[in-house]
Amino acid sequence: MKTTILSTLTTATMLTGIAFAGNDNGQFESKTEILKWKDGKQAVFMLEFDDSCVTHVKNAIPELQKRGMVGTFYINPGNGPFKNQENAWENEIPATGMEYGNHTFTHKGVLTKEEFDKEAKQCNDTINKCFSQRNKRRLISFGRPGGVPWEISNEENSAVLKKYDLVERPAFFGYPFHVKTKDEMLQLVDKALDKGEMGHHDFHGVGGDWLSTPMDMFIALLDKLETNKDRLWITDPISYHKYLTERNETTISIIKESKKQIEIKLTCKSDSELYDLPLTLATTTPENWRKCTIQQGQLKTTLPVAGGRVVYSANPLTSEIIIKSIP
Ligand SMILES: [Zn+2]
Repeated sequence: MKTTILSTLTTATMLTGIAFAGNDNGQFESKTEILKWKDGKQAVFMLEFDDSCVTHVKNAIPELQKRGMVGTFYINPGNGPFKNQENAWENEIPATGMEYGNHTFTHKGVLTKEEFDKEAKQCNDTINKCFSQRNKRRLISFGRPGGVPWEISNEENSAVLKKYDLVERPAFFGYPFHVKTKDEMLQLVDKALDKGEMGHHDFHGVGGDWLSTPMDMFIALLDKLETNKDRLWITDPISYHKYLTERNETTISIIKESKKQIEIKLTCKSDSELYDLPLTLATTTPENWRKCTIQQGQLKTTLPVAGGRVVYSANPLTSEIIIKSIP
């Protein structure tokens, strides 16, 4: 038996962690790959909201909820707008599936590393209080406040982010600075789909407050996302960051294979305490397979085989996966 492992193959479609297994006796050769985006989606889109505006609570979140979409809210718990809706931010919104990001406690900017440490910690403490059922260490998205002084070095900035498990989000991009019309806003979705990459729009007020996106533009964007939801992974910046990191740091090798069973092994180099998002894998199977079981540790699922391959979710921490044909 000859086995070839290509641990970090990069192809035109940017698939990494592909493993092929060959067999000299002319028997079946399987191939397993990590799909570029979760659930095999074509592209990614993220909606981000800054400054804990009152209109996020009143206007944006109800519209997201109606569509079952996630938004990420970069809160400033030390400021008036947050306090105005404190009960909603702390007790109601966390149960709706929305995510929170750290936008510092007061949005005043920082002059020293010590100030940033305090601002980052106090905001994280509020986020952790809001999501008190998540009692495990986890990554939190960080959005640096704009239009205020930020007088610390990149090294000091990175040290504080690392200390509090903060991951800096992609640079702010949104209305009215980078996007001026409804058409331009909708084109962000088409661009993400065309490139097969991540797109995002960042908001301040929605239908009110400051730098406010008009309600009709906001609704048009959500409707466009909803129309394309089968092709788009609409998610939050931490899930995106985890998938991307794990995809790049996971290798797959074939342990054993026959016409009835394929055994593979995942090796993920990312910190397993923080990087625990399931990856989406596809394994090619012999032609006559119609259904199979996927076993990962104690977890066993049954899935259909379509077009000679099975697509499944795999925990990067699982290590061994056994795929078995069901006659
Ligand atoms: Zn801000």
